[in-house]
Amino acid sequence: MQIEQDLEKYFGYKTFRPGQKELIESILTGRDSLGILPTGGGKSICYQLPALILPGITLVISPLISLMKDQVDSLNEHGIHSVYLNSSLSSEDYFAVLDRINSGQVKLIYVSPERLKSESFLQLANDLPLDQIAIDEAHCVSQWGHDFRASYREIATFIDQLSERPVVSAFTATATNRVQEDIIHQLALENPYVLINSFDRPNLTFEVMEPESKKKTVIDLIDKEEAAIIYASSRKTVDRLSEWLRDQGLPVSAYHAGMSPADRMASQNDFIYERTNIIVATNAFGMGIDKPDVRQVIHYNLPTNLESYYQEAGRAGRDGLPARAILLYSPKDILTAKFLISQSNDPTSEGRLNDMINYATTSSCLRQHILAYFGQEAPDHCQNCSNCLQQVKKVDVSREGQMILSCIVRMAYPYGMTLVTDVLKGKKLQKIKDKHFDQLSTYALLKDMNVQTIKNIISQLISEGALAVNEYKGLSLTEKALPILKGNKCLYIKESAYIRSENKTKISQKAQSLTDHLSPEDEELFEALRELRYSLASEENVPAYIIFNNQSLLDMVEIKPKNYQEFLDISGVGPVKADKYADDFCQLIEDFVSIK
Ligand code: ADP
Repeated sequence: MQIEQDLEKYFGYKTFRPGQKELIESILTGRDSLGILPTGGGKSICYQLPALILPGITLVISPLISLMKDQVDSLNEHGIHSVYLNSSLSSEDYFAVLDRINSGQVKLIYVSPERLKSESFLQLANDLPLDQIAIDEAHCVSQWGHDFRASYREIATFIDQLSERPVVSAFTATATNRVQEDIIHQLALENPYVLINSFDRPNLTFEVMEPESKKKTVIDLIDKEEAAIIYASSRKTVDRLSEWLRDQGLPVSAYHAGMSPADRMASQNDFIYERTNIIVATNAFGMGIDKPDVRQVIHYNLPTNLESYYQEAGRAGRDGLPARAILLYSPKDILTAKFLISQSNDPTSEGRLNDMINYATTSSCLRQHILAYFGQEAPDHCQNCSNCLQQVKKVDVSREGQMILSCIVRMAYPYGMTLVTDVLKGKKLQKIKDKHFDQLSTYALLKDMNVQTIKNIISQLISEGALAVNEYKGLSLTEKALPILKGNKCLYIKESAYIRSENKTKISQKAQSLTDHLSPEDEELFEALRELRYSLASEENVPAYIIFNNQSLLDMVEIKPKNYQEFLDISGVGPVKADKYADDFCQLIEDFVSIK
């Protein structure tokens, strides 16, 4: 009971999220612990609450400066004294922080892993009453993960050099067994308690769309009042798409590794501080972004594996409120993705890309597909993904598949998807004449079929392994093509991928807004609260969600607290936040209610 009370006292939350309590209890008994919780699962509280209950200090090792700043800002908002030590501090600030630590005012110290190598830091750590070392984003220690960071390998040595070993806790959202084992081994965790939570994110709706125009679909999907991340696979696409969206009058930032660090930082801050609600970015963006109120993550291109996809998509809806994870799929993307992985020498990349393609093309439940990939059980239908909701029907395209395969055989050289499609469509191109493809028996065999559908069937053949793609994106048959050619195996595509030329299906739909369920008056109140939050955040120079998250604002709309005591009932409001904000927010609510 005590730790529930502490949760409410410090963070204003009434119940734990799954796994939090078990991990906290384990840490408090002094046992090393490894928590594997999905993004948005609430990992921070798992080490922050023990830090507050234990008498001494917790050292948090965190990979990114922006992540530390966000966490420290958020803790200080809750009245919890915490600091960070990293290269962003001037030497004056650094010594001021050291003074605060030495005077015993601080409960949590965030540091980058590089700092652990410094002799003076080791000395400081040995002089402090360290109770816990918490390692955030612990998968950075593993080279099997996607964010390997060499200095994470120094953590075990650092802990070993301490005169007294504190309890060690480690946290990640990365699910694969190999990475989990590596974390335990590399961090030298002692007989750790390991908690692996369900990777499901029930509040996320997973969607795959195959639109004719991705750009137009993005416009349809975007609600400029709500935060959205759009991931694209290349810097060029990020630049072009962000410019185009800006031309359409949308508030957009761009982010990729080709920009200067200052420009990247400015873009990131514009997004976090709600000056622009939409960011178009490569996968360089995201780690260290804790923004909880992202309502949509749209993938403009096909990612190269499901681990990265799930991690990026998981940046939507960390606040637990409904959010969408949308993949805009086009068969062309397979070729680009194949090209990207051909640059890497990871032997598993081909198989992982195929799993990603299967996700994009499957007609079964998307959530089940993801969870099965991470080795977790799930029901056959989640009723919250585009496949379950649309009850996807399949179309038998075995005959067309045979025509495509025999056309590729007859072209007698690994040509790309576009030329193969042009030959099947019977296009009168000079290139086709020069190579005498117009003489082939397969020329114009699919002249009545929509070009996109032909490409979708070719993609299905690639995803089933019947066609191989070489480094120049040329197509050739594999032995898996034989059963299809002989009619021993059927080929299906989703009905939505079978586009009838005259009847173009419109797949995109406007995002559901957070306030759809509210009455018009309450919706107005929500907007007014949001504005108040924004102005307070600007005054304090912190992101708006650090003051209150959307769930807290929705609670205020529902409960309409009249005084300090009632304000404390709002989720996410502890005494410190109530002291600071109850007056302003209750006043606004009172004014609002009396006018209406
Ligand atoms: P993670 O690091 O696992 O991605 P965070 O620790 O950033 O997730 O938590 C995500 C969001 O959930 C934060 O806004 C946090 O305040 C909130 N949160 C965490 N635990 C709870 C809880 N028990 N009840 C309600 N909200 C919570």
